Amino acid sequence: MKISHWFKSALTAGLVAASMLGTSSQAQTASGKTELLWLGQAGFRITSPGGKTIVIDPWLSGGPKTPAPYKTDLSALGKVDLLLVTHAHVDHIGDAPAIAKLNNTVLYGPADMVTPLITLGVLPANLGHRFNKTGHVKPLPGIKVTAVAAEHSSLLVWNNPATGKLESHPAGEAVGYIIEMENGFKIWHMGDTGLFGDMKFINDRYKPDLVLMPIGGNFTMDPEDAAYAVKNWLTPKAVIPMHYNSNPLTKGTLAEFQEAMKGAKTNLVPMTEGQKIEF
Ligand SMILES: [Zn+2]
Repeated sequence: MKISHWFKSALTAGLVAASMLGTSSQAQTASGKTELLWLGQAGFRITSPGGKTIVIDPWLSGGPKTPAPYKTDLSALGKVDLLLVTHAHVDHIGDAPAIAKLNNTVLYGPADMVTPLITLGVLPANLGHRFNKTGHVKPLPGIKVTAVAAEHSSLLVWNNPATGKLESHPAGEAVGYIIEMENGFKIWHMGDTGLFGDMKFINDRYKPDLVLMPIGGNFTMDPEDAAYAVKNWLTPKAVIPMHYNSNPLTKGTLAEFQEAMKGAKTNLVPMTEGQKIEF
C-alpha cells in the first residue's frame, strides 16, 4: 500500500489529529508526527514527534527480513535515544546489547531479563534498567513507557565464551509496552503474546491509538486470534501486524489477517519490512 493512500485513510480516521497536539518547544522544531520504520519481525524504529529515536526488539544482524542497511550496520539506525526489549528470545533481544553499547543508551526491559544480561556480562550494569508489568518510566522528556502483560515466555540463550557452549538462562516474563509520545499519541507494542482477556483491560486503561500485534501463530496469536482481539476488545484507530513471514513455524499470513479483520471498525495498516509510515 502506498503511503499517500494510507495517509488518506489515516486522515479519515482522525489519526493525524493526535499528532497535532504537540506543545513542547522540541516538538515544534521536529516534524510533529510519529514515524515508524519496520525492521522486520517485532523490530521497529520509532521517531517521536520531538525527534527522539526509539528502537524496540531489534533483531537485525540475524533477522532474515531485516532491510538494508540495518542488517549489516547498526549505526544506520542513527543515534538511539531509547532502547526497549520485550523479552529475551533471540528474535527480540537480537542486537539490543550491542546497540546499547554502541550508543551508550540504556536498555529498558523486564527486570528479570535485564539482571542476567548484567550478571553474565552481556550488558554493563549502567546500561540496564529493570522494570516490570504496570511499572512506568519516563526515560526522555515527554515520553512515558509502561510495561504491560503479555501471555508468553522468556528464556535467554547465551554463548558462554569461556566454554564455547550455549547456555539457557531464565529471563523473567515477557511484556508488551505502551509508549506515549510527547504529543500524547500512544503505541501499544504487544511483544510476543497469545490471546488473553486482559487485552481489554490494557486497552481500556491506556487507550492506545495504534497497536502493533503479532499474527504469525505457533508462538503467538494467529490471524484469527488477533482479529478476535481487535473486534471484541480493542479500540485503537489502527493496527499493524508483525511477527509473521520470517520463520517457517509462524505460518499466519497478512491475507488471512485481512480476511479475519473483515467487518472490524479498526483500520488495518500492513507494512513491508523497511517501509516507513507517519502518524
Ligand atoms: Zn518470543
